[in-house]
This record gives sequence, C-alpha cells and structure tokens, in this order.
Amino acid sequence: MTEILTRPSAPQPRASVMQIHAYTPGESEVSGANRIIKLSANEGAFGPPPSAQAAYLKVAAEMHRYPDGASIALRRAIGARFGLDPERIVCGTGSDELIQHLCHIYAGPVDGIQADILMSAHGFSMYEISGTYAGAHVIKVPEQNLTADVDALIAAVTPNTRIVFLANPNNPTGSLLPQAEVERLRAGLPADVLLVLDAAYAEYVDDPEYDPGVKLVDAGENTVMLRTFSKVFGMGGMRVGWGYAPPAIIDAINRVRGVFNVNIAAQAAAIAALAEPGWVEASVAHNTKWRTWLMAALEQVGIKCWPSVGNFFLADFGSKAQADAANAHLKSRGIIIRAMGGYGLAQTLRITVGSEEDCRAVAAALADFMAGNPSHG
Ligand SMILES: *Cc1c(COP(=O)(O)O)cnc(C)c1O
Repeated sequence: MTEILTRPSAPQPRASVMQIHAYTPGESEVSGANRIIKLSANEGAFGPPPSAQAAYLKVAAEMHRYPDGASIALRRAIGARFGLDPERIVCGTGSDELIQHLCHIYAGPVDGIQADILMSAHGFSMYEISGTYAGAHVIKVPEQNLTADVDALIAAVTPNTRIVFLANPNNPTGSLLPQAEVERLRAGLPADVLLVLDAAYAEYVDDPEYDPGVKLVDAGENTVMLRTFSKVFGMGGMRVGWGYAPPAIIDAINRVRGVFNVNIAAQAAAIAALAEPGWVEASVAHNTKWRTWLMAALEQVGIKCWPSVGNFFLADFGSKAQADAANAHLKSRGIIIRAMGGYGLAQTLRITVGSEEDCRAVAAALADFMAGNPSHG
C-alpha cells in the first residue's frame, strides 16, 4: 500500500491556516507596575453597567441550564432598543463569531475557485484572519488619509469578489466614511457582493448624517450590519455581538452558528445593559469630552493625533523608533496602549479613551516623554 507509506507522519493543517498571524489582543500586564491603566482594547471607560453585573450574578444559580439557543429575549430587547425587527437579528459570541461565519458562508471556495474578500488597508484585522481561514484571498485596498477609499474599493472588485468589509467607524484608525460615500460604495458593488458594515463603535458617532447600516440593510438583500456589546456597553468579557441582516442571510447564519453561542450570563447581562438608564448617553458624553481633551493635550506637546470618532485614536510619533520609545515610557508608568506594527502603522500608538484619571495620566506621561524626562515607575 504505497498510499499509506507516502502519508505524512502527523495531521497537516491547510497551508493557508499556517499563513495566518494570530490576532494580537491588547496587552493587560506590565511587569513591575503596581497600578495598571489598560487602554489597549477600546473597552468602555466606565466598566460594565451595574444592572448587567447584577443580572450576571443572578443567573449563577441557573448555570446548569442551557441558554436559549435562539437568544429570543435578547433579540427582542435589541429590537425594541434600536427599532428593528428581532427576526432580522442574529446574536453571536461577539461580533467576531459573525464575521467568521459570514466569511465561510459567502466566501469559502466554490468548485475549487477561491473567492476574493476586500477590506481597506487598515481595516479591522479579524477580517483578514477569518477570510483567510475560510479559504478566501483577502485583498487590502489602499486608503486615502487612513480612510477607506470608495473608488479604490470599487475598482478592486473582480468576478471572484464575494464580500467587502467596512468598519465604520474604523478600528484602529478612528476614521469615519461619510454616509453618502457608504451609499456610493453599495451602489458601485455588484448586487451579489455582500457588504458588511461593522459598526462596533456606532454609539460614539455624533454626526447626524451617520447611519450604522440599518438603511442599507433595509434597502436590499446584500448588506449586513454588525454591532457589539463589547465597546460602549462595557461587556467585552461577556462576548456578545449581533448582526442585522436580510432574512436569507439570517437564515444562513442560523444554520451554522454555535447552537448555544451566547451563554446565559451573557444574554442576561446584555438585556440588563440595554435597560441601564442613561448609560450610553453618559459614556458618549464622557468620551467626546475626554477624547478631545487628551488629543489637544498631546498636540500641545507636539504629538500629531489622527482625527477619530471612536473611543480611541492614533497618536502619531513620526517614526517606529519614536513610537516604540513612547510605548516603553508609558509602560514604565503602568500604562498599556496598543502598538500598531501589526497594522503597518508602527509610527503610531492607538490609545483608548479611559477615565478622566487615565487620560490625565497619559497626558502627563507623554508630556514628560516629549520633554525628554526619564521614565519613572
Ligand atoms: C472590537 C471590534 C469588534 C469585535 O467585537 P466583539 O463583539 O467583541 O467580537 C468588531 N469590529 C471592530 C471594528 C471592533 O473594533
């Protein structure tokens, strides 16, 4: 049996899987610092809503029960909050789970032909990871000024293009594509190309023209909006995201998603978070105020900041060496931000807008750094 002799000695992963660089989560530890300020993962500045914490504790006695696999109560609560039909909502283990399913469902190889997925050059890195995992060729399309370029995206469409991912606002750049541009993108794509509008930071946007994706989902069969409880709702650790999509897309996702993908604690906490009075308003007001304050403080000491509509922004140090030195300086004070080398933006650091105290600590540390003052612990 020559066939047996030529088999490898161990299971072989697909070559494309081994080309994937694993997602780098925001760091959370610094050796030697006694107080850590974690500003590396865009987690909400206020921690989790108190009512979500209470709901989480309350379901502890129920943890022997399987969760509602259809997340019915949660989908109703989301629908009521955002004025959407719960039948067109699907919940996921974070929106990351939904990104992965969309890639496999719509951009896996068909009859041996590899699909193309388009994303903007500095788009969210999970699109590249999940797209490659699904067997697609992920193409990063050049941006203008760290903002998605609609003409370039449309020009990059090939007969094999199946999905275009657009994070709007975009992470990590913080840029916002104006509504008219998003509509122009949709209009310029073939009808069978799925447009995924990832609005993880929708709540933070105060542009009256902005629509997180609802309009385009409602307008046709080929657009999905993704949302999450991980950012403004302060529940990244619970892993709850959701999608709003035409019925055929919801149906396809429901065939393959984890049957019990949102656990009982996560469902209970998310429902409670939606009902927390004034939570989003207070979080957004805080964010706008302190993002503006912190960016001005950094600009004042000579650090260029890229405009952002999210709860984070890119501080640009002009070179990788300078950004690395600034990062080391921040770390020496227990402040953890996100280095951007993995995104091809090594001259920048992404800073999450934290509490007032956090923002003041970042400003003080970077002012000292720019003044050439030594680090201290
Ligand atoms: C944080 C983030 C997500 C992922 O959110 P989860 O729901 O925690 O998986 C998706 N898209 C973008 C652009 C993000 O920044």
